[in-house]
Amino acid sequence: MMPGPTYVYACPDCQYRVTKRSLASGNTFGATHYSDMRVDAPMMPSYPRITKCERCECTFWLDETTQVEGAIMPQIAHFYDDDFTPSEVKNPAFGDQLELDPAKELDREDIKDALFMNVQRDDDDERYLRYRLLWAYHKQLEDGTLTREVLNEDLDYLENIDAILNLIKEDENGHLFRAELNRFAGRFERSLELLEPTLNDPLWGVISKKMKELSEAGNREVFVLDVP
Ligand SMILES: [Zn+2]
Repeated sequence: MMPGPTYVYACPDCQYRVTKRSLASGNTFGATHYSDMRVDAPMMPSYPRITKCERCECTFWLDETTQVEGAIMPQIAHFYDDDFTPSEVKNPAFGDQLELDPAKELDREDIKDALFMNVQRDDDDERYLRYRLLWAYHKQLEDGTLTREVLNEDLDYLENIDAILNLIKEDENGHLFRAELNRFAGRFERSLELLEPTLNDPLWGVISKKMKELSEAGNREVFVLDVP
């Protein structure tokens, strides 16, 4: 894993600045793939694409539209740089702040608010937010801050699943994920229907059969994929 520069972003409303690291290169070695499309890759950390301002609570995208000119290089670069002097720490990108904190990921309620306020500019933004909302629910199940009983009654959870299904309806390779989304929603018949053509697929058959098993058992849980 090779870290890239750390960039600075300014809240468009109040100019409060935050940082976000970047990755020069990474890989998915040792990654855990989940059936809800989540990937935990220790060699490829992901950094937030959107955040909420800690000063004014405005939600903004961390991209070229909010990036401040000038970047903070990784500490390691300073370490090997003979010309580095401490005065360079006062980077103009800091604005009036002495220190910058890393931009925080949105939590579940923040993501719901962001979608409600229509911060998404295109389908890609919406996918980003809706996948993260789905994962936020599932991570809460994992860490025990949400129970299956409560989740099954959560209409926002179902509405988000339907919105994702709508977003991926044109995706050619989305069969298995569509089946999973229906299983998460408790629509087991639909899930089995979608899985049928993939059960004997040389590459995905094993995973598909596992999904079928879970659907037949009325199980709505996410599982870890044994990726071929
Ligand atoms: Zn702000």
